[in-house]
Amino acid sequence: MDLATSGSDIEKVIATHDQIIARLKELARKVESDYEGRDLLLIGVLKGAVMTLADFARELQRHVEMDWMAVSSYGSGTKSSGVVRILKDLDRDITGREVLIIEDIVDTGLTLAWLKSNLESRGAKSVEILTMLRKPDAAKVAVDVKYVGFEIPIEFVVGYGLDFDEKYRNLDFIGVLAKHMYS
Ligand code: IMP
Ligand code: MG
Repeated sequence: MDLATSGSDIEKVIATHDQIIARLKELARKVESDYEGRDLLLIGVLKGAVMTLADFARELQRHVEMDWMAVSSYGSGTKSSGVVRILKDLDRDITGREVLIIEDIVDTGLTLAWLKSNLESRGAKSVEILTMLRKPDAAKVAVDVKYVGFEIPIEFVVGYGLDFDEKYRNLDFIGVLAKHMYS
């Protein structure tokens, strides 16, 4: 769905579809050079990272493998607690693999910090992170994110995989959800 159709639900555009793809192309060139001569396994975090992984992988001019995990972060209400439960685990063993986690957004960083150490404990050779968005001021834990699409302010954003109550994931751009939609 595009901006014209989503209308007044969106208060402000953070990144257009063209800007997202252009940024993914830049990140793909970096990843190609960083991983030259190494294997590469992309692990997408369901469901938010579906769009990012799909478009990023298609920009990569090299072979990759893909796998997916689904996790749920326990917390009080909308606050993330860092206590994570695996809803869908990887299909294959990752011992000795070079892993790049693909995420939609890093907010507190608690989910990713847990995921990174979980994958490292399974014997991966390396575990790095690529995220489409990062809210830097909200970082509660120091999680090392190697590739960031866009740094954004602390606002609730939707689109391009990110949802509000499971909706807006299919917007082809990223925008700030209008306050009247949730207050
Ligand atoms: P955290 O980094 O552990 O706080 O958790 C990040 C997760 O919270 C993301 O993977 C999203 O699912 C969700 N999230 C955080 N900020 C937003 C937002 O602005 N819009 C939609 N989902 C968000
Ligand atoms: Mg997520």
